[in-house]
This record gives sequence, C-alpha cells and structure tokens, in this order.
Amino acid sequence: MKNESTLSPAFSPRGEGEARTVAVIGAGPIGLAAAANLLERGYVPIVFEAGASVAANFESFRQVQLFSPWRYNVDPAARRLLEASGWTMPNEDELPTAGAMIDRYLAPLASHPSIAPTLRLSHRVTSISREGFDKVKSKGREAAAFVIRATVIPAKAGIQPEPRGRIAWIPAFAGMTLCSEAG
Ligand SMILES: Cc1cc2nc3c(=O)[nH]c(=O)nc-3n(C[C@H](O)[C@H](O)[C@H](O)COP(=O)(O)OP(=O)(O)OC[C@H]3O[C@@H](n4cnc5c(N)ncnc54)[C@H](O)[C@@H]3O)c2cc1C
Repeated sequence: MKNESTLSPAFSPRGEGEARTVAVIGAGPIGLAAAANLLERGYVPIVFEAGASVAANFESFRQVQLFSPWRYNVDPAARRLLEASGWTMPNEDELPTAGAMIDRYLAPLASHPSIAPTLRLSHRVTSISREGFDKVKSKGREAAAFVIRATVIPAKAGIQPEPRGRIAWIPAFAGMTLCSEAG
C-alpha cells in the first residue's frame, strides 16, 4: 500500500527556512555524528533510520569488543553537545563493546533534546530523486526539490540490519518532500 504523506511541516517543499535542511540516511555512529555536526553549523538535520532504534548495525553485534578506543569513536561535535548537558566521556583509552557504544554514547546522543526531534526511526529510505524529473531530464534539475521516499517499517516486522551503512548529504536549498510508503 502506498501512502504518500508529508510527515512534518519541515518537509513542505520550498518552505521558508528549508534552505538549511539536510537529510541524513542512517542513525549509526556516523549518521548521528553528522547530525551533531550539522546542528553545530546551523543546519537542520533529518535523520532517517531503518531500525526501530538507533545504531541497528551495532545492535547486531552488541557483545563484540571494538578494536578502536573511545577516543576515536566519539565525534568531537557530538561530544561537545553531550558534555554541555552533563554527559561524561568514557575512559578514552578503553576499548568499548558495540553495546557500550550504544548505551554510553549513541543512545544518549539520540535522546539529546537537539537530536531526538530530528530522528525518523523505522523509516527505510528507498529512493532519492528530484521532483518532476526522471533520469533523462537534466535541464533545471539543480533547482528542483529533492524527493526522499521511505518505507515505514511496522514495529512487529523486525528489521534486518544493513551490512553497510551509507549517508546522503542533501543540501536542500531547493526544498524537500518526503513521500512515505507503508511497508
Ligand atoms: C566485529 C566488528 C568490529 C568493529 N570494530 C570497529 C572499530 O573498532 N572501530 C571502527 O571504527 N569500526 C569498527 N567496526 C566497523 C563499524 O561497524 C563501522 O565503523 C560503523 O558501524 C560505521 O558506522 P556507520 O554509521 O557508517 O554505519 P552503520 O553502523 O552500519 O549504521 C548505518 C545505519 O543506517 C541504517 N540504514 C542503512 N540503510 C538505510 C536506509 N536505506 N534507510 C534508513 N536507514 C538505513 C542502518 O539500520 C544503521 O542503523 C567494526 C565492525 C565489526 C563487525
């Protein structure tokens, strides 16, 4: 069933203030760090995550110890954001497990008042295109709004984490429209 809808006023195409909206695909460690960096630079991130919670990939190997210590795993902008609200950096030289990364860093970051409203959990992005343009039309493409399609995943369906994450940085100077499709 296809259910095209605008989920938030932020998605209204070409609305005032949208010039600084950036879509981030995936709320893993990189996507959440991207959101923190965007906020710091005055952009408005919207983070689409296929999983029902953030860091779905890390969740799939929660018990495994990572090979890089905390100092390399915590993004500086994310750290600044968290420390401003009382968070404490774990021992920089320790090796976290993937689960510790979630519990001590990524989950607090995701629930930070600046980040939480940007998250669209259970939204698997299926395509990114330009409004009114197919693959063979190019004239005027750069001025057209981005259209992001996402499948909304029902909670009970479960989720197979992606083997590799990816991020799309979308300068939404042309506006952005979200079409959601019920999964
Ligand atoms: C055993 C093991 C140990 C590792 N140890 C380390 C280490 O010590 N140091 C290190 O730097 N790296 C390590 N890695 C690699 C680590 O997994 C990656 O560095 C890290 O996960 C990359 O983060 P990411 O946010 O780019 O991607 P991911 O963690 O893969 O996150 C991507 C997110 O995007 C979501 N997603 C994917 N596609 C879509 C879509 N179409 N729409 C919406 N959401 C989507 C996924 O659900 C997921 O939550 C290790 C990996 C393994 C398996």
